Amino acid sequence: MNTSIPVNPTCCDEIDHKTLSVSQALARIDEFITPVTETLTLGLTDALDHILAEAVISPIDVPPYRNSAMDGYALRSADLPAEGKCQLEVVGVAYAGTPFTEEVKPGECVRIMTGAKVPEDTDTVIMQEHVEREGDVITFAAGQKPGQNVRHPGEDIARGEVVLEAGTRLQAAELGLLASLGIPQVTVKRKLKAAFFSTGDELRPPGEPLQDGQIYDSNRYSIFGMLKALDVEILDLGVIPDIRDKIEAAFQQAAEQADVVITSGGVSVGDADYVKETLDKLGTINFWKIAMKPGKPLAVGKVGKAVFFGLPGNPVSAMVTFYQFAQPAIRRLMGQTRITPISIKVPCSEALKKRPGRTDFQRGILEYDPQGRLSVRSVGMQASHILSGMSRANCFIVLPAEWGNVEAGTEVEVQPFHGLM
Ligand code: AMP
Ligand code: MG
Repeated sequence: MNTSIPVNPTCCDEIDHKTLSVSQALARIDEFITPVTETLTLGLTDALDHILAEAVISPIDVPPYRNSAMDGYALRSADLPAEGKCQLEVVGVAYAGTPFTEEVKPGECVRIMTGAKVPEDTDTVIMQEHVEREGDVITFAAGQKPGQNVRHPGEDIARGEVVLEAGTRLQAAELGLLASLGIPQVTVKRKLKAAFFSTGDELRPPGEPLQDGQIYDSNRYSIFGMLKALDVEILDLGVIPDIRDKIEAAFQQAAEQADVVITSGGVSVGDADYVKETLDKLGTINFWKIAMKPGKPLAVGKVGKAVFFGLPGNPVSAMVTFYQFAQPAIRRLMGQTRITPISIKVPCSEALKKRPGRTDFQRGILEYDPQGRLSVRSVGMQASHILSGMSRANCFIVLPAEWGNVEAGTEVEVQPFHGLM
């Protein structure tokens, strides 16, 4: 397996200055991500949110036996009348969990509850609402179908069938499904550890007073939230000032302890951007200009064995590039498959401003119009430092690179945030 980035260092300069499209960048990232191989076996509840390491094969048929879909009466289909009415004698009761095991002769039937095993000699269940009962005799009319209201073994899942593929994230439905097969534990991928830090002399943590020219470090908190939503273990290395030695030490510590290293800031070409220098020394990193808005500069590669994402410093750019690039990469690294974001097409309810050339990930509000139709509108200001817009948004409006201004009513692609942010 290829664990290094598929770029010959001697050609890095050429790559460095090249602008990549969003899909080119995603494809490049995909090439150097190798999912973790270490696994562990966990009980069902501990396995929640882990990634399945092996496919799960059903050891049983579900349902395991023929059972009734209704409360009613089980009978032999041969006793169903072709026309008129018919009477049968009730000879016993079948409860869920307590089957009726005796013979059911022609002219007889069994009172049966939903989920109860359908007695051997019977093959049809009549709903109790279609029956009149007096003492031990039921009367019902023609028109019932042979075989009705009976669930068959293996109808949901057959023994030997693959129920869950390797790479599935185990969520509530999967835990229930595994339990329904009687499986008490599963083999999952180990969790990832992600280290992250912010870079910038201007950054102060919340709670401290701001001096002239300083701002609060917000990226470390939004990145924390996005990493938590991915369910990785977290190592917060704080704010690292723009000092060469400190940045180098932080990278070294991060790479030694984590599978993924995420930083923000310092990847553009500003004077104090030492991240690039340090990384050239410690790892194999590509510095990309991605034809997207926001979030143009992105550093991607390896520091030691860790996968590295150097996100841009602007708060919205940091979140958008995390969501579009780091998130799918981390999911793949943790062994997850099926990670394409959900995207839908809806009309925009107002005009959207756009310049041709880059893919826009505008922050949008997906909502129902008064006629009950789904539509999307912009949150308003789209500059890459407007974090409040990110908070008001519930989706990205993805506008292709070649598009210019968008007229109201145009169908646009929308990626709803699904709980990540
Ligand atoms: P940089 O990528 O370091 O040039 O930063 C670009 C812009 O983002 C500058 O205005 C920085 O002050 C701002 N910025 C960088 N890091 C952060 C952060 N952690 N939180 C908030 N703003 C930041
Ligand atoms: Mg900076």
